[in-house]
Amino acid sequence: MLIVDIHAHMDFEEYKQDLDKVMEENKKAGVAVIINNGVTVDSNRKVLELAKKYDIIKPALGIYPVHCIDMSEQEFDKELDFISKQDIIAIGEVGLDYLKGDDNPHGDIHKDKMKQCFEKFIALAEKKNIPLIAHSRRAELDVIEMLESSKLKKEKIIMHCFMGRKHLVKRILDNGWSMSVPCIINKLQQLQLIVEQAPMTKLLTETDCPYMSPYPDIKRNEPRFVIEALKKIAEIKKLDVEEVSNMIYKNYQSVF
Ligand SMILES: [Zn+2]
Repeated sequence: MLIVDIHAHMDFEEYKQDLDKVMEENKKAGVAVIINNGVTVDSNRKVLELAKKYDIIKPALGIYPVHCIDMSEQEFDKELDFISKQDIIAIGEVGLDYLKGDDNPHGDIHKDKMKQCFEKFIALAEKKNIPLIAHSRRAELDVIEMLESSKLKKEKIIMHCFMGRKHLVKRILDNGWSMSVPCIINKLQQLQLIVEQAPMTKLLTETDCPYMSPYPDIKRNEPRFVIEALKKIAEIKKLDVEEVSNMIYKNYQSVF
């Protein structure tokens, strides 16, 4: 079994106590690659350290859209310059987030600033010619339009945990971009519909761990739980789980 997690946060507090053990267990369970997405200046440094320490962790650097708001333009540009000099597999986590909530107190009030930052990340992905892993929450259309007007190659765009409407899913697929399916697909019909719509060649898998565990009794998510996404995809596509895992691994290799 080859398990691919293209969107994880192993640098978060939740793994601080037992990361070595977690990594060992995940490797044993067949996890072949974890793309760790950075979300702040500090997080980006930690991601680079983890990628040095664990062979299956690959670094993606970015700034979570909500955190861009708290940075001055100077601070942001300095980090962008740092990221531009690193040997990384992708730009992520970047995008737009308009949903007001605990982790986004301002909602879409600062959306112009968020867009400016996202624009700069898109330009950096173009310059480095590496994939971009896009976060879009209640901002799906804006994210799609910005990516459509960019010069990024269609093979290099991945929509992570996309929860937008069906016609937008179609638009993403018509554009030839990839969609990454989180393991909570076992609970959410909206995600199952994406898998129905998408060709196997455009699917990737992820956790967004430590968040979004697929199990009601386990709070902390882990890359190996991607198995739940593989099982659901296999069921929807009427394929064998092993076959699905090989196909997703191939997709990973061709995108990254
Ligand atoms: Zn994330």
